[in-house]
Amino acid sequence: MQVLDGGFCSNCFNHVQTPVVELDAAWDGPVVDVDGTQVSVDDLRLCATCVRSAAEVLDVSPESLTQARNEAEAARLELERWQKHAQALERLLADRPEVLPKVEKTGRKKA
Ligand SMILES: [Zn+2]
Repeated sequence: MQVLDGGFCSNCFNHVQTPVVELDAAWDGPVVDVDGTQVSVDDLRLCATCVRSAAEVLDVSPESLTQARNEAEAARLELERWQKHAQALERLLADRPEVLPKVEKTGRKKA
């Protein structure tokens, strides 16, 4: 899959000068007229407008992407706070003046 500088869209059949996504798939499309030349549309390519429309149908709008990024950033910050808290607890335990008794780990009994 790659982005081309322009070309035919297999969905709207417009020849655009804006980015077109080449989906690396053969497609039995129509023959269209380009400045008097008949051109067969045999590759599945979608213009940015059609890709955007498809993304909105799938609820992948710019707003939903922004919301997902914000949620991911909030989760990352929350993780960072808990990691700092855990590190602070580890330092407190390491600096404890009395030695803690060793606790033998028994683990789960095997079935
Ligand atoms: Zn299109």
